[in-house]
Amino acid sequence: MLDQYSKSIANLIEEFEKFPSIGHKTAVRMAFHMLNSSKEEAERFSKVILDAKNNLKFCNICYNISDSDPCDICANVKRDKSTICVVEDVKDIIAMEKTHEYKGMYHVLQGAISPMNGIGPSDIRIKELLDRLKDNTVKEVILATNPNIEGEATAMYIAKLTSPLGIEITRIANGIPIGADIEFVDEVTLTKALEGRRKI
Ligand SMILES: [Zn+2]
Repeated sequence: MLDQYSKSIANLIEEFEKFPSIGHKTAVRMAFHMLNSSKEEAERFSKVILDAKNNLKFCNICYNISDSDPCDICANVKRDKSTICVVEDVKDIIAMEKTHEYKGMYHVLQGAISPMNGIGPSDIRIKELLDRLKDNTVKEVILATNPNIEGEATAMYIAKLTSPLGIEITRIANGIPIGADIEFVDEVTLTKALEGRRKI
C-alpha cells in the first residue's frame, strides 16, 4: 500500500499508523502535515516526544505515570491515605481526577486479568497492591476496574484476596454501562458510580 511513496514518507506513514485509532488515510494526512511543517516545528515535535519518554516514569507506589517518583498524587499530603482506588490504566486516574470528588490514593494495575489474552494475576500489579495493604493505613479499597468481563474478574479476584484483611472492599459500577471503559465515562456518571459504590 505504501509502494507509491518514497521511502522516508512511507516510514513516516508507517509510524503514524501505529497510533491507536489512526487509520491509513489519517496517517497519510499526518505524514504530509509533518512534511509541510518547518524544520523547527519537526525538531520541536521530536524533542517533545523524546522529553516525554525520558522524563516520564512509573510511580513506585501507585504505578501512575508521572514526571516524578512518587507521583504528585502519592506525594500530596492532603490526599486521603486510607482509601485506594484500584484502576486498570493510568488514563482511568485522569477520568477519576476530572470528577474532583475523589481525594484518596490510586493503584494502577496496568491491565486486567484476561485468560483469553494470556494475562494472569501475576502479570498485573496485584502483588504490589497487596503489599500496600500490609501496614493497616488503608481502610477502604475501591475497585474501579472496567465493567466488562476482564474488569469484573479482576475485581472479584482482588476482593477474594483482600477480604481476610478486614479492609472494606467496594466496587463502583452502577450507572456505568456494561462493557464501557472507565476512561471514557463522563464525570457525572463516574461521580455517581463512585458515590454509589457497594460493599463486596
Ligand atoms: Zn503514585
